[in-house]
Amino acid sequence: MSKPNSFPVTALIVTGKGQIEIQKFLLPEPSNDQVVIRVEMCGICTPEQRVFKGSRATYPYWGGHELAGIVEQAPTNTDLQPGQQVAVGLMLRCGECEACRRGLNNHCAYLNQPPADNFPIGPRGFSSHVIVPSYKVFSLPTALPAEKAALTEPLACCLHSIQRARVASKDNVVVIGAGTMGLLHTIALTLQGCQVIVADNDVEKHSSAFAAGAHRVVTITELEETNILAEITSGWGPDVFFCTRGGVDAITIATNLVGRGGRVVIYQSLRENDELRLRANLLHYREIEIIGTIAQTTADLLQATRILYKHTTLFNSLTVKALPLQQALEAFETAIYGEANRIMIDFRDLN
Ligand SMILES: [Zn+2]
Ligand SMILES: [Zn+2]
Repeated sequence: MSKPNSFPVTALIVTGKGQIEIQKFLLPEPSNDQVVIRVEMCGICTPEQRVFKGSRATYPYWGGHELAGIVEQAPTNTDLQPGQQVAVGLMLRCGECEACRRGLNNHCAYLNQPPADNFPIGPRGFSSHVIVPSYKVFSLPTALPAEKAALTEPLACCLHSIQRARVASKDNVVVIGAGTMGLLHTIALTLQGCQVIVADNDVEKHSSAFAAGAHRVVTITELEETNILAEITSGWGPDVFFCTRGGVDAITIATNLVGRGGRVVIYQSLRENDELRLRANLLHYREIEIIGTIAQTTADLLQATRILYKHTTLFNSLTVKALPLQQALEAFETAIYGEANRIMIDFRDLN
C-alpha cells in the first residue's frame, strides 16, 4: 500500500521566464529505507539559470542539484546518523539500465524521464527537505561550512572530467576559462600535482585563477600568439587541455596547441548546432585525443567527499554568496550576472 502524502516541504519553483514562487507540497511519508535530509544550502547552477532565463522553457521547474544538508532520519543499515552533514547526488541512477550496469550511471537511461508523481519536474534540491535512497547520500566533515559543502557535486563533475583525461601527476595542463568550473578544475588538478596554466581573456578573472593554484595565468590570445606554452613545457606542449568555456574556438585552439599524445577535454556544453572543424591529420600524426565528459558518477561523488575529508579548506579561494529563500529572485539574477563563483539559496532559516 502506498504511503499517504503527509510530509510537508517548502520548495522554490521556477514558474515561468524570470518568475519564481515559494510553494508548499506534501510529499509521500518517507519509508524505512529512505534518508530524510534537512537542506542547508543549494547552489544555482547552469540548468537552473537556463530555465529561469527561458532558454530552457520547462515550467513549472523544481531545480537544485548542488546541495548540502543535515541528516534527520536514516535507515539503520547505513552508517548515516542524524546530525551528519552530507552531500546529495540527486541525479537518478536506476541501477538496472545498460548504462548503470556498465558503471556509467551518469548516462542512466531514466535521467530525463518525466516524474512518476504530480510534482514539478527537476532534481528538486531547492527544498526545505529531500527524501532519497541512501545510495545518493555522501557524508561530509562537519568542519566544512554548508556553503562550501554544497560545492561537492560540481567538484565531482571536475573529478570525472580529470579522470576521463587520464591526468598524471606533474602533467602540464591548460584550463581554458577561469569561471567557476575552470577554477574547480584548477583546484583539483593542483591537488593532484599538475602544473596548471589557466587561460581566460577576461583579465579581471586572473587573480582568482592564481588564488585557485594556477602556476601561470594568461589570455587565450597569448596562448595563440606567443611561445608561452613552449616555454613552460620545454617545447613539447601541454599534456591536457580542459575547455570549460570559449565554445568551439577554444576546442580548435586546444587541438592545435596540445602536445603529441595529448588530450583535449570538452567540459563545456556547446550550442545544439555547433560543429567542430579540424585538420583531421592532426589527430592521426600527433596522436591527439578529443574527449567528452558529462556530469559525475556515484564513484566521483564518493571521491569528492573523500578529498574534502582530507582538505576541508579546499574551496577557500572560491567566492560563494548565500541568500535566504526570501531573496531567491535576487539570487537568480545575481547568479546570471556572475557576481560570485556560486550563488547559493540558504534554506536554514526555514528549519
Ligand atoms: Zn551543477
Ligand atoms: Zn540506469
